[in-house]
Amino acid sequence: MGKRKKRIRPGVFVSATDTEVGKTVVCAGLALALQKQDINVGLMKPIQCAGDDTKYLIKTLGLKDPRPLINPYYTNLPLAPNIAFARANLEIKIPRIINALRQLQLRHEFLIVEGVGGLFAPIKSSYLVRDLVADLGLGLIIVSRPGLGTLNHTLLTISAARAAGIEIIGVVINYSQPQKYGIPEKTNPEFIKKLGGVPILGIIPFLDKNQPQALRRAFLKQVDLKKIIVPPPDKTEPLIQKDRRYLWHPFTQMQDWRSSRPLIIDEARGCYLRDTQGRWYLDGVSSLWVNIHGHKHKKINAAISQQLAKVAHSTLLGLGNIPSIELAAELTDIAPIGLKKVFFSDTGATAVEIALKMAYQYWQNRAQGKKKKFIHLEYSYHGDTLGAMSVGGIDLFHKIYRPLLARSFKAAAPYCYRCPKNKRRPKCGLACLDRLSAIMRKNHSLIAALIIEPLVQAAGGMIIWPQGILKRMRRLCRQYNILLIADEVATGFGRTGKMFACEHERVSPDILCLAKGLSAGYLPLAATLATDEIYNAFLGDYRAQKTFFHGHTYTGNPLACSAALANLELFRTEKTLLRLSPKIEILKKGLQQFKKLKYVGDVRQKGLMAGIELVKNKATQKPFACKEQIGIRVCAQARKYGVILRPLGNVIVLMPPLATSQQELEKIIQVTYISIREVSEC
Ligand code: PMP
Repeated sequence: MGKRKKRIRPGVFVSATDTEVGKTVVCAGLALALQKQDINVGLMKPIQCAGDDTKYLIKTLGLKDPRPLINPYYTNLPLAPNIAFARANLEIKIPRIINALRQLQLRHEFLIVEGVGGLFAPIKSSYLVRDLVADLGLGLIIVSRPGLGTLNHTLLTISAARAAGIEIIGVVINYSQPQKYGIPEKTNPEFIKKLGGVPILGIIPFLDKNQPQALRRAFLKQVDLKKIIVPPPDKTEPLIQKDRRYLWHPFTQMQDWRSSRPLIIDEARGCYLRDTQGRWYLDGVSSLWVNIHGHKHKKINAAISQQLAKVAHSTLLGLGNIPSIELAAELTDIAPIGLKKVFFSDTGATAVEIALKMAYQYWQNRAQGKKKKFIHLEYSYHGDTLGAMSVGGIDLFHKIYRPLLARSFKAAAPYCYRCPKNKRRPKCGLACLDRLSAIMRKNHSLIAALIIEPLVQAAGGMIIWPQGILKRMRRLCRQYNILLIADEVATGFGRTGKMFACEHERVSPDILCLAKGLSAGYLPLAATLATDEIYNAFLGDYRAQKTFFHGHTYTGNPLACSAALANLELFRTEKTLLRLSPKIEILKKGLQQFKKLKYVGDVRQKGLMAGIELVKNKATQKPFACKEQIGIRVCAQARKYGVILRPLGNVIVLMPPLATSQQELEKIIQVTYISIREVSEC
């Protein structure tokens, strides 16, 4: 076996267009033919409802694995699995099947998994064979009949598999009974190939399944085994070359990038990302803080596909569209009280631009033309467009562009670890707000709005505010007649443990910016919500020019809005927020141990957002120098252990999807801990 040079697939899933088409014979024939080619083949029949297929396969192939691995679930009722197992009082647990598959994969070079029924056979009330194929991550072989009607069944199976993102290896046409060779038998293979866009792997004549020698011979002769065992060529190297030649990556020194070997993500499932070489990584930062319910979620995929079948895009300039209307209504329902109007755009930065322009024009429309300025906080980040950068407080990102930007007042950030007043909680009396209130007192007649990232200044280094600050800011804004803009682009949609961070202190801003998690991380979508008071100030005779002169081509894009609607529905049906509490506790507990590490200065957490600040000297809080790239090195180490992280300078960020399981979360914590130790202490 060691002689073989070719890479082979880990395995295949064999399904059929119907029941009684001959999956078992095909599995046996394939396995026998591959055994003959010196491949150590394993076989699995995860679910069996009556019959003796498993027994037959074990005997015919001489399988030595424990039976519970080969067939974890059996009932003697010849019914659809969901009904058969419910009647037998047995619950099918998908993780058990996946675990058995992993164990068999360790014992064999190649695994053949036989399905039950066709792709739409229900395993549980809302879990089909199709979902199992996708969850096992195997390529699919479809067994179909030769005669009339098979074209329809086979093409439907192919399109269902494609819609679920399943790789289709090809079709095996199996004569499960003696049958004439008429016109359909003759013409179907070519049509399947052409209309389905998949190869015909082989056409198997009627055979006696109890004649293993004949089966082996037929499969060796009739089936293109290479197409089955050899995966498509690895395109990593040419892709890296092309990336280096044509792409300019965001926030990236391209000189470093071009000499690195980047991961190229090919696929994702749940909370894992897979690279072009087939390695799986836990998505520890939710694909840049966007993913909520996991990747390739069938409900979100289905919502997008259904919308795609209607219309991908139609403009909101002069027309309406259904998903944007429905979504606007739902957002005003869940948003903090008083936010009653929704303006859509496509990214966090545009949501902020819109908020700033709205706030500015609100005062203009209300004949308070002097109120033109904004207040922002130190370390604030609101996006990379010019308006958003004008209220940005991170020198590294913003200093160079200052000559292009509007001037804005800057107040201190409530950054307790590096307190601007050199005080300590809880005795400080929230003195960090002194400067903010002084700016307001002196300049309120010139100020349109205060813009904040409530509770967590994420991009600034996961700076988490002490309790009470947000409420005080709200009060100050009211006192000085200044609008409050809450930028919840990062904190929105459950990240802090509540739907919106503002809810922790029962604060309602005048304007709310949403993006990232709004579409669960599937498509670019943003929203700026405003109160009726703001909206009403833009009403008037057209000639008064109170119109909000703003819009983007993709404003209210129906595909993105349908993803967002599915996202909100999942929050309700999967009780996402309710199920978050134990995970937040696990993160809290897991982070305790980090505080003892030699180079960990501060550990901060709110909900499922966490930051671990690494310092050169714990006693003096001296930061690591930029050139040491400590954050980048820790994240590179974590990648070796199968976890994707991205730092913010010297702060290691953990922000996994809300759907991350407790075990996955524990793995992320453990890998981060080991990586920090290995990089900083060794
Ligand atoms: N506001 C906040 C609070 C953010 O964290 C970000 C992005 N990290 C943005 C705005 C900008 O969002 P986008 O990158 O989608 O423009």
